[in-house]
Amino acid sequence: MRCLIRAALAAICIALVTACAAPSAPSTSAARVELVWLGQSAFKITTPGGKVIVTDPWLRTNPLTPPAFKQFDVFGRIDVLLVSHGHFDHIADAPALAQQYNVPLRAPGDLNQTLTTLGVLPANLLPRMNKGGTVEPVPGIKVTAVRAEHSSIYVFRNPASNKDETHPGGEPVGWVVELENGFRIYHAGDTAAFGDMRLIGERFKPDLALVPIGGNFTMDPAEAAWAVKELLRPKAVIPMHYGANPLARGTAKEFVDAMGASAIKVVVAVPGEPIPF
Ligand SMILES: [Zn+2]
Repeated sequence: MRCLIRAALAAICIALVTACAAPSAPSTSAARVELVWLGQSAFKITTPGGKVIVTDPWLRTNPLTPPAFKQFDVFGRIDVLLVSHGHFDHIADAPALAQQYNVPLRAPGDLNQTLTTLGVLPANLLPRMNKGGTVEPVPGIKVTAVRAEHSSIYVFRNPASNKDETHPGGEPVGWVVELENGFRIYHAGDTAAFGDMRLIGERFKPDLALVPIGGNFTMDPAEAAWAVKELLRPKAVIPMHYGANPLARGTAKEFVDAMGASAIKVVVAVPGEPIPF
C-alpha cells in the first residue's frame, strides 16, 4: 500500500515538473496557416499569429458559400480585407464586412476613390494604394498589389434613382501576402495568364498560389496549369473562381489533369473545409 502511495506521489511530481518545464508555446493549430475557401475567390486565411485575412468576399448570394459564412459574425475578427477589383463577385459583401469589423477595405486605389466619392464607406475605411508598393496593414502581415490581366468597373445602385450606375473601378490587381512566418500567398484575382507572372514567381517565390480556372472571364484549367508550371512555380496551388457561374465551366478535375505529374502540390478546396499549411 505504502509503495502504491509512493508511486502515485512520484507520478504527480513528474507530471508537475513536466508541466512547469513545458514552454507556453502556442498550440499547433494556432501556429500554422489555415485557409478556408468560401467559393469563387473568397478565402478566410488564418495566420500563424492568429490574424484573419479575408479576400474577395462574395458570400450572401454566392451559391458555393457555406450557409454558416452568410452570417458575418462567424468570422469573429477580420484584420485584413482584400478586394482584387470592382466586379460584384469580388466586392459584393466587402463594404458590409468593413463596417461590421471596422477594418479598412484594401482594393485598387482608384476603386477606393470611387467608393469614397459614392459614399459607400467612410474615407478612413478606404485607404489608397496601388501596384508595386508593399504595405503592412497590421504588424507582421505584408501586402503587395501586383498586376492582373482583367478589367474593373463598379456597379452602384443609386438610392435616389433606384437605378444601377456604372463607375470606374480602377485597375484590377492580384495580391501577394506575406504572413508573420514568411509564408507567401499569391492571390491572382481575376486574370488571364501574362508574362509578368514569371516576375511574380521569381520576385516573391510564393509558397501557395490561388489561381482562377473557370475560363470565359479568366484563365481556364489548361491556361492556369501552364501559368502555374511555367511562370509562377509555387510550392502549392489551389484552383478558385469556378463552379459559381454557368459561363465559367472549368473544373478542378480538368485543372488537376492539366497539372499532370508536376511536383507542385495541387489542393482542391471544398468550401468551408479548413486546409492547413
Ligand atoms: Zn470574377
